[in-house]
Amino acid sequence: MKLQQTIAAEIELSGQGLQTGAMAKMRILPQPVDTGIYFRRSDLPGKPSVKAEINSVVNTQKCVTIGKEGWQISTIEHLMAVFHGLGIDNALVEVDAEELPRGDCSGRYFSQKILEAGITIQDQPRRYTLIREPIWVEGTVFKQNEPLKSALIVLPSEELQVSFTFTSDHKATGTQFYHYCLSHDTFVSEIAPARTIAFMNEINYLRSQGLALSDAYDSVVVVDEDGYRNELRFPEEIVRHKILDLLGDIYLLGPLVGHIVALRSGHALDIELARKIAERDRV
Ligand SMILES: [Zn+2]
Repeated sequence: MKLQQTIAAEIELSGQGLQTGAMAKMRILPQPVDTGIYFRRSDLPGKPSVKAEINSVVNTQKCVTIGKEGWQISTIEHLMAVFHGLGIDNALVEVDAEELPRGDCSGRYFSQKILEAGITIQDQPRRYTLIREPIWVEGTVFKQNEPLKSALIVLPSEELQVSFTFTSDHKATGTQFYHYCLSHDTFVSEIAPARTIAFMNEINYLRSQGLALSDAYDSVVVVDEDGYRNELRFPEEIVRHKILDLLGDIYLLGPLVGHIVALRSGHALDIELARKIAERDRV
């Protein structure tokens, strides 16, 4: 039986948001058992907070945004993935802006900070969502205006595993596959360091939409017509980062035991699958 965990000490960090480019200060505070993960806007009157759960999601374009009553916090997925990977059940995240600091555009910065602060084992068991029957969702992604099917299926399994296929015709990235089995140590070494990917033509489009405004595009993995513009941390860094995003999104359900098979999925489909799993649990 695994027990719930929180962080051993308060953590403070700051930095620029990935999409807005705005500077943000953030604190992560330990919480008692059965609290869950909460996010709070410390810059708003009354410092409102919202639970990181599936019903709090208000937007999935490019990043995951949660909120309520007209206020929101965006790009929570990398920190949520780190909570998932390190097995943190209870924490309060306070931020003084609309978007979390980006760290190094992966989960490594957050996981290092949490490992430095330490992890406290609490005295109540974790509650897992178990998968007994397959549950799946399908979507469509457009690559150069060509529609391609995306899919996510979760199957019964004795542990959390993810098998992800990322497809691309780009000569540098190619199609990438990775199979990952969740554990504290493998998360820190195999998944947390994988950074956000950006194709140069997408960056230009996102900027025209008021996104991708930070200087982070020095540190994300940028791919242009000639290939990678920076050095990779892993040959298949892109698909590992896709797994990081998925682990963050699915943690809006709390810990889950199942084998997730993903084809070209992104935040919107991740959230759709999580909703479907949550609805099944309510029946
Ligand atoms: Zn990401």
